[in-house]
Amino acid sequence: MEKELIGKIIKISGPLVVAKDVPQVKMYELVKVGEEKLIGEVIRIDGEMAYIQVYEETSGLAPGAPVFLTGNPLSVELGPGLISSIYDGIQRPLQILEKKSGSFITRGIEASALDFEKKWHFKPLKKVGEIVRGGDIFGEVQETEIFVHKIMVPPHFKEGKINFIVTEGNYHLNEPIAQIGEEKVFMYQKWPIRKPRPIKEKNVPFEGLITGQRVIDTFFPIAKGGTACVPGPFGSGKTVVQHQIAKWANANVVIFVGCGERGNEMTDILKEFPHLKDPATNRPLLERTVLIANTSNMPVSAREASIYTGITIGEYFRDMGYSVVFLADSTSRWAEALREISGRLEEMPGEEGYPAYLASKISAFYERSGQVKCLATEERLGSLTVIGSVSPPGGDFSEPVTQNTLRVTKVFWALDSSLAYKRHFPAINWLTSYSLYEENLQEFFLKEGEKGFNEVRKKAKEILQKEAQLQEIVQLVGVESLSKEDQFLLEVARMIREDFLQQNAFDEIDAYSSLRKQALLLTSIIQFYYQGLQKIKEGKTVEEIVAPQVKENVSSLKYIKENELNKFQSIIKEIC
Ligand code: ADP
Repeated sequence: MEKELIGKIIKISGPLVVAKDVPQVKMYELVKVGEEKLIGEVIRIDGEMAYIQVYEETSGLAPGAPVFLTGNPLSVELGPGLISSIYDGIQRPLQILEKKSGSFITRGIEASALDFEKKWHFKPLKKVGEIVRGGDIFGEVQETEIFVHKIMVPPHFKEGKINFIVTEGNYHLNEPIAQIGEEKVFMYQKWPIRKPRPIKEKNVPFEGLITGQRVIDTFFPIAKGGTACVPGPFGSGKTVVQHQIAKWANANVVIFVGCGERGNEMTDILKEFPHLKDPATNRPLLERTVLIANTSNMPVSAREASIYTGITIGEYFRDMGYSVVFLADSTSRWAEALREISGRLEEMPGEEGYPAYLASKISAFYERSGQVKCLATEERLGSLTVIGSVSPPGGDFSEPVTQNTLRVTKVFWALDSSLAYKRHFPAINWLTSYSLYEENLQEFFLKEGEKGFNEVRKKAKEILQKEAQLQEIVQLVGVESLSKEDQFLLEVARMIREDFLQQNAFDEIDAYSSLRKQALLLTSIIQFYYQGLQKIKEGKTVEEIVAPQVKENVSSLKYIKENELNKFQSIIKEIC
C-alpha cells in the first residue's frame, strides 16, 4: 500500500539518513530508503528535513537516492504464528530470511512476519448478532500444543454488531473471518510499536511471579506485571538467571529480546532455546516463547526497534488475559544505540554522552509493564512483567543506564562478580538487592507458602545482615571474641547462604523449587536457629549444636524431590 511519495537523501551519517522534499512526512513514520528500500523510521522532523534512523546497513547509499514514504508508522503484525518465531528487530522471521539469502542476510530483503500461506484452525466463540467492542475475544486458535491464541476484536472498535462470522474451520490469515459493523476482521491485527496498546486500567500487582529460584522468590520476589533490573558484569550468571526465569517462571508466554550483547552470545541462545523443554508440560519451551534477536549485520539502531517490537508483542498477549514475561538482554546496548544516534543528530549530550532524554526513554519503556484490566467488555486480567538486564562497564552501578533503570524498576537483583568468583550461584547479592513488591505480596505468600513464612523470610534476612556486621569484627579480632550466640548465628547464616540461597541451575532437582518447598526449607533452618539459641542458654556449645550430622542433614534438604516434601518433617525432627 505504498504511496508514491518520494523524497531525496541529502546526507548520510552511519545509520542516520537525512532527507528533504518530504513535506507530508510524519514523526515515527516507516520509510524505505534508497533503491534497495532499506527499512527506516523518521525520528526527527526539522523544517524541510526528515531525520531517518535506518535499521539496515547504509553503506553504499548516496545523496540523491530516493526515500519512499509509506504513510504508516513502523508496526508489528500480531496473530497466530508469533509463538515459536525467531524475529529480527523489525519483525522479519530469521529462519525465512536465512532461507532467502543464506546466513549472511542481504539488505532490503522483505519477509512478512506472519505466514500468510498457512491455514489456522479457527474456532468462533461469538455468534452473528452479538455486540462486541475492542479487545473482546470472538474466537481462538490452538497455536501450539500448549498455547491457545485468543482472537480479539482490534482495539479501535468502539462497539459493533457481528454481522458475519465464519464457522469453525481452517482459514488463511488474510481471509476475513468476521464482519463487525461494516468492517472486516481478520485473525491478525497490526499495531505501531511505539504506541502502548490500550487497557482499561492498571492494577497494583498482587500475585507473585514464581520463578522457582529461591533467592528470587523468597528474598527478592517480583510480582506479575512488575519490573526488575538485573545488572550483570561478565561471567556473573546473567544468562543463566534469564534462562532459569524463561524456563521456570509460571507465565503463559515468554518474550526474549537480545539487543546484541556479543554476537556469539545470542547465537548460543538461538541454538540452545529450541532444545529447552518446559518442565511443566515437557513440550519444547519454544512453544510458549517468542525470540527477537538482531543479526550481526544490522546496525546498532536496530536494537531500539527490537525493544519496541518485543514489548508490543508482549502487550498483545497480555491483552488476551495471559501473564507474559518480557526479558531484555541487555538494555545497555539499546542505550548505547540511543547515544550513537543522538551524537549523529548533534544533540546536546547529557551524562556520559547519553542523550538527555535517556531517563524518559527508559521509564516510558518500563511503564509498558503492568498487571492490568484488559480492554474488553468482560472483566479480564493480564500481566506483562518486564525484566531488563544491564551491563554496566566495569561493574560500576553508578553509571547512567543502571541508575536510570533503578529509578523506575521495583526489583533489583544485583549480580555480584565476587560471589560468582566464589562459585556462589545464583550470584545475587543478598545485601544490596531489593524488591519493593514484598509488602504487596505478603498476602500472596501467606496463601501460597507456609504459615509464618513472612516472618521466616524477614528473620533470615536479619541473620544475613547481622552476619555481615559480625564478619567485620571477626576480621579484626577473630571468631573467639564473639559471644556463643553470635558464633552460632554465623553458622546459621552459612546454612542460609549455602543450603538455601545457593541453587544449582544444572542439577535436576535443585534447578527448581516450588514456593512450598522454599518455605519448608527456610522454615527448617530458622526453626533450627531458635532451638539452637535455646540449647546455648542451657549450656551447650556451638560445636555440639552444629554437629557434622546436623550440617549434613540441613544440606540434604534442598535435594528433597517436589513429590516427597513430606520428608521434611522427619529430617527436621532429627535435626532438632
Ligand atoms: P554471564 O551471562 O553473566 O556472562 P553466565 O550466565 O554465562 O554469565 O554464567 C557464567 C557461568 O556461571 C555459567 O557457565 C555457569 O557455569 C555458572 N553459573 C551461573 N549461574 C549458575 C547457577 N545458577 N548454577 C550453576 N552454575 C551457574
